[in-house]
Amino acid sequence: MSCFDLTVPLTARAADAFDHERVLLFQDPASDLKAIVAIHSTALGAALGGTRFQPYGDDEQALVDALRLARGMSYKNAVAGLDFGGGKAVIIGDPNRIKSEELLLAFGRSVASLKGRYVTACDVGTDGADMEVVARACRWTVRHTPGDGSAADVSDLTALGVLHGIRAAAYHRWGTTSLRDRTVGIAGVGKVGRLLADRLFDEGARLVVTDVREEPVRRLVGKYPQTTVVANTEALVRYEGLDVYAPCALGGVLNDEVAPVLTAEVVCGSANNQLARPEVEKRLADRGILYVPDYVVNAGGVIQAAGQLRRAPARRIVTRVERIFDTTLAVLERAATEGELPGTAADRIAERRLHAAAEARVAGR
Ligand code: NAD
Repeated sequence: MSCFDLTVPLTARAADAFDHERVLLFQDPASDLKAIVAIHSTALGAALGGTRFQPYGDDEQALVDALRLARGMSYKNAVAGLDFGGGKAVIIGDPNRIKSEELLLAFGRSVASLKGRYVTACDVGTDGADMEVVARACRWTVRHTPGDGSAADVSDLTALGVLHGIRAAAYHRWGTTSLRDRTVGIAGVGKVGRLLADRLFDEGARLVVTDVREEPVRRLVGKYPQTTVVANTEALVRYEGLDVYAPCALGGVLNDEVAPVLTAEVVCGSANNQLARPEVEKRLADRGILYVPDYVVNAGGVIQAAGQLRRAPARRIVTRVERIFDTTLAVLERAATEGELPGTAADRIAERRLHAAAEARVAGR
C-alpha cells in the first residue's frame, strides 16, 4: 500500500481553488485499489462524507470530483448544524469489474490510517454491504445494516428533508405550508423520488413524474393511479401548471436550455449539484423562479449518518431532519432581506459557521 500526500502540490498550483486541509492518494496494486481521500475541513469536527466508486476518464477528473464533493460536504454539514466537517473519498474504477473484498479492506485500512480525521459512508457505487467490509478494517465507517439498530436506508430521511424544504419554500412563496392541490413534478422516481412521492400524496399534492426506467414509473402508477406520467424531463419542465419542480435524478439539470422554459415557480429536489453553472440560478430568479439550494434540503441522509455516529435516538434524528424546514426558511428569508440569491445566502451561512469554528480552533477555544 502506498500513500501520496497531494495537499502541498495542489496548494502550490491553485491555492484558492483547492482550499482543502488534506488530499491523499492511496494505491494498493495487489487489490487494484486507487483511491483519493479529500478532507476539505475539520473545523467543525471529523470530515464526514461518502465514498464514490466509479470509473473516471482520467485521474485528474477523479481528483477534481473528490475536491468538489468534499467541499460540498463541508457546506452541507455546516448548514445542517452538524458538528462534522466535510470530506469525500473516490475509488477510481468500475465497481462492477474491480470491487472485491480485498479492495474494500485495503480502502478501509487507508481510511483507518487517518485516525478519525475522515469518516466514510456509502455513496454512488457503494452500498451498506460494502461498508460492512470497510468497517472490518476501519472503525471510522458509517454502517447501515438492518438489524444493528441503524436505519437500513437513508433515502427515506432524505425524502423527508426534501418534503420539508418544499413546505418551507411554499410558505415563503405562497404564505402557506399546505401542498394540497399543488402540482409537483418529480424527475427520477428512484430511491428518494418515490419516497418523496409517497409523502407528497399524503400531503394532498398532485404529481407529474418521469423516469428513464419504466419499472419505477409502473410501480408508482400502480400505487397511485392518479399520477400523471410524462415522457421525459424536457416534457416535465414545460408542463403547464407545474408549481414545484423536484429534480431527483441527476445533477446539472438546471441549465441554459431549461431556465427559459421551466413552468414551475419553485425548484426543490434531492439531486446533488442541480445547477449546471452557478449563473443559471440568476436566470431562474429573473423569471421569478425560486431555486432552493440542493445541499440545504438533501441533508437528511448525512444528518442520519451523523446521528448514528453520535448514537442519537432515532426520534431525535427525525426531529433534526424535520428542522430542514427552519434551515430552508432561514436561507430564503436571508436571501430576500439581503437581496441575494438563495444559493449565495446558503453559502454565506455555511462559510460563517466554518470560519467561526476555524477561528475558535486557532484561538484554542
Ligand atoms: P436512484 O438511482 O435510486 O434514483 C434515481 C432515479 O432517476 C432512477 O430511477 C433513474 O432511473 C432516474 N433517472 C436517471 N436519469 C434520469 C433522467 N435523465 N430523467 C429522469 N429520470 C432519470 O438515486 P437516489 O438515491 O434516489 O438519488 C437521487 C438523487 O438524489 C441523486 O442525485 C443523489 O445524488 C441525490 N441524493 C440522494 C440521497 C439519498 O439518500 N439517496 C441523499 C442526498 C442526495
